[in-house]
Amino acid sequence: MTDVIKARLYVTDALSTGGTIMLADDQAHYLRHVLRLEAGQAVALFNGRDGEWRAVIAEAGKKGVRLDVEMELRSQQPADDVWLCFAPIKQGRIEMIVEKATELGAGRLLPVITRRTQMQRVNTERLAAHAREAAEQCERLDVPEVEAAVTLEKLLQDWPHDRKLFLCAERNDAPSLLMTAKGEGPCALLIGPEGGFAPEELTQIMALPQAVTVSLGPRILRAETAAIAALAILQSVRQN
Ligand code: SAH
Repeated sequence: MTDVIKARLYVTDALSTGGTIMLADDQAHYLRHVLRLEAGQAVALFNGRDGEWRAVIAEAGKKGVRLDVEMELRSQQPADDVWLCFAPIKQGRIEMIVEKATELGAGRLLPVITRRTQMQRVNTERLAAHAREAAEQCERLDVPEVEAAVTLEKLLQDWPHDRKLFLCAERNDAPSLLMTAKGEGPCALLIGPEGGFAPEELTQIMALPQAVTVSLGPRILRAETAAIAALAILQSVRQN
């Protein structure tokens, strides 16, 4: 029996003192066979709603892993309201966007199909699994939602009137995101594909009253670098 917490897991069940959680197969496998945890050892659980809880393995056997929820470790804090809209890029790099965006606090990840997007198919479930793993690792109390891909037209059509949209565009004399993004309120970043946005798409986006064009510096960044740099800037200049 030890008090050291050996793992952090996202679960969907409600968390409260005295609760019992049966782990899903993949998580049970991870605890038993990867981390080699046994009955009596402690883990941390979170579900995006009830904060973070200490739980102890009550049973770890062939039938699965049962956890007894003991006490709250951290209470749920409201997350900063930042969305990341990004054109899907090839496998490997898109997972990197999801992982890093989760670490940097994005609340919602929206793949957007643009004219020059090469990757038209997005495996939302696989990306959601990456977001969950990254959230477990970085001590977030929630997991960003990964949405199904939509076209740029649809994204703009349904854009919420109260959410600012920072259009990240290379080779322009727009102000830096650092200067523009101070303050609070719901906002989102929009990052284009490796080929960039088509000129008519830039016009379309800027027709939205909530849109502001911003620069991330003088060099042309790869899409994943742009996403990471922009989120790091937002994280440092916003309230949360
Ligand atoms: N192929 C394009 C570059 C696209 S980079 C070209 O050579 O012109 C991919 C995306 O990253 C862009 O659509 C943009 O959203 C973002 N990006 C890259 N560099 C940027 C910069 N310096 N400022 C703002 N956004 C940038």
